Amino acid sequence: MADQRPKDGSSESGGFWSDLFAPVAGFGVSFRTMFAKTQTEQYPEEKVPTQPRYHGRHQLNRHPDGLEKCIGCELCAWACPADAIYVEGADNTSEQRFSPGERYGRVYQINYLRCIFCGFCIEACPTRALTMTNEYELAGPSRAGLIYEKQDLLAPMLPGMLAPPHPMVPGTDDTAYYRGQVTHPVQEQIDWVAERRPDDPTLEQARAHVVDRASDRVKEGRAQ
Ligand code: SF4
Ligand code: SF4
Repeated sequence: MADQRPKDGSSESGGFWSDLFAPVAGFGVSFRTMFAKTQTEQYPEEKVPTQPRYHGRHQLNRHPDGLEKCIGCELCAWACPADAIYVEGADNTSEQRFSPGERYGRVYQINYLRCIFCGFCIEACPTRALTMTNEYELAGPSRAGLIYEKQDLLAPMLPGMLAPPHPMVPGTDDTAYYRGQVTHPVQEQIDWVAERRPDDPTLEQARAHVVDRASDRVKEGRAQ
């Protein structure tokens, strides 16, 4: 191994004062910290909000009429470096439609024992179905409990949404959905669900939403 000592034969001494305090210099950080203001976070009683772009638990999003954005294409699973995602797609049918277009994600699992929260999956998703929330409390008593299923990941139904399965808004295609041209469920979809699932809990709010929008249009018409 080559000799690393200075060629001019000088020692690596930093001078008299430096050498004198060298043994205690390492305590500098300890002393500074000792007199700094204490910052105690009362977690979990008080949760400190994360930064807005924090990558936490995933979410499978919905269109405004309640249909799912996931089309079961598996691109997220292929993009995942940790092999944490498992997707099985299936065909939408006239009686079992969960998303616009041909396919939907029938099985969707994320294994949080493997996930490294890199976000590659959400970048790969072509429909913005998959995003990441700020939720970071992902611990549990069993390994099986950390494999999240589709129902654990699906976005909640917002007021006015109609639970799938149900048809798309008449006269639209999947492109119209992706362009954001569908903004709420319509009466035809509500009637379809009411005929097949009269006890569906989302029917009432969807009906109220349609009535509200109709009265808004009437008011707008009067104002013009
Ligand atoms: S965040 Fe990264 S590791 Fe986790 S599921 Fe997505 S691609 Fe895989
Ligand atoms: S979440 Fe996105 S990328 Fe993954 S299967 Fe669904 S549509 Fe495809």
